[in-house]
Amino acid sequence: MERENAWKKYDSKALEELESLSARYRKFLDDGKTERECANIAVEMAKNNGYISLDDAVKAGTKLEPGTKLYASPMGKTIMLFIIGKQPLENGMNIVGAHIDSPRIDLKQNPLYEDSDIAYLDTHYYGGVKKYQWVTLPLAIHGVVVKKDGTVINVAVGENDNDPVFCISDLLIHLSQEQMQKKAAEVIGGEDLNLIIGGKPLKDTEDKEAVKANVLSLLKDKYGFEEEDFLSAELEIVPAGRARELGFDRSMILGYGHDDRVCAFAEMEAIFKISEIPERTCCCLFADKEEIGSVGATGMQAHYFENAFAELMNLTGDYCDLKLRRGLANSKMLSCDVSAGFDPNFASAFEKKNSAFLGRGVCFNKYTGSRGKSGSNDANAEYMAEVRRIMDDAGVSFQTAELGRVDLGGGGTIAYICALYCMNVIDSGVAVLSMHAPWEIISKADLYEAMRGYHAFLLNA
Ligand code: MN
Ligand code: MN
Repeated sequence: MERENAWKKYDSKALEELESLSARYRKFLDDGKTERECANIAVEMAKNNGYISLDDAVKAGTKLEPGTKLYASPMGKTIMLFIIGKQPLENGMNIVGAHIDSPRIDLKQNPLYEDSDIAYLDTHYYGGVKKYQWVTLPLAIHGVVVKKDGTVINVAVGENDNDPVFCISDLLIHLSQEQMQKKAAEVIGGEDLNLIIGGKPLKDTEDKEAVKANVLSLLKDKYGFEEEDFLSAELEIVPAGRARELGFDRSMILGYGHDDRVCAFAEMEAIFKISEIPERTCCCLFADKEEIGSVGATGMQAHYFENAFAELMNLTGDYCDLKLRRGLANSKMLSCDVSAGFDPNFASAFEKKNSAFLGRGVCFNKYTGSRGKSGSNDANAEYMAEVRRIMDDAGVSFQTAELGRVDLGGGGTIAYICALYCMNVIDSGVAVLSMHAPWEIISKADLYEAMRGYHAFLLNA
């Protein structure tokens, strides 16, 4: 069954909303190129929208009433926003959950070296990337360096017009006869991703690596850290530059990190739109580390969500382990993550009846996984029916899809992890072209429909 293109239904008021949402989203992408930056922005926005700190509430033993809005940001890389509902937490929450880490290139622990009068940073890529896409592009460095005394130095270089940028070189075509015969996975190897950061030697030095010495002296002057401090740094190499409107009709957005910041942003806008006291408690959640398997203390497999749920129960005066388990099982979730948009250039990778098309609205994936649905969540039919009803009642354009044709590949999300609590979870997101490339493509209409769909879900599930 073919779904209608959402653009066709918009009146001028809807178009105005869509464009202003898209403009705010582009700013979010420009300001949030790492999970930490996205989490910081979300905390600031939450505070501006009247959300109070869950940590503070726990310390003060604040009694939570329906309508109370709270935020928490474990380790500054994850986000949870809550609006306490009228019903007891034992009845469950309505949750929209996305991830805010994106594929990128991280620095190694000992990254800095000099070779042939060029200073480099050695790297280790993060997440699923086609490595050949990351060479000969302007790149920026974002992240933190933490000194031994605990001082956190924030770094973001390469975004302002007068900032320098960085780059990974590729072999000139003239000498590429051998390289061009290689498989795409081997054209650029993991150890070839070395970032050029300097080329001018320090004057009047005995140091044999004077270019490296010069870079170190600049780092010391500008940021106040030394070579050894790279040991406790998290510096991420990302495409430099802003998200842009794409096409003569400006209907799309070309940006870094749509996966999965487009869903994170849509969720955040959806929950901030809620001014009434909801029936069920609403939750907007951003996880980290999805791109490497939801591992670690900030990945979805960690227990921060469950812990926060317990704290909320405690502060509403209703905590016990059994009620917590019931509350988790009675919760309903949209696992909000991007889906593969049908790409006519690569039509054979898809099965058209079950593909997501740019502009046809928020996409639901009953299951993801690979081969025989391996690793999938596979949502319940009863739940799928409920979600369809909610979307139709709110006039939200939606479509359903699989991630490409059967047996070609596959992917996963955080859905199956939250489903471990026996809650209903379904994958839902925005269709993306060139997913995981330095610059990915989405349709503004799908962002708008996702935001509308998430809002309807939070209030009506
Ligand atoms: Mn994703
Ligand atoms: Mn991804």
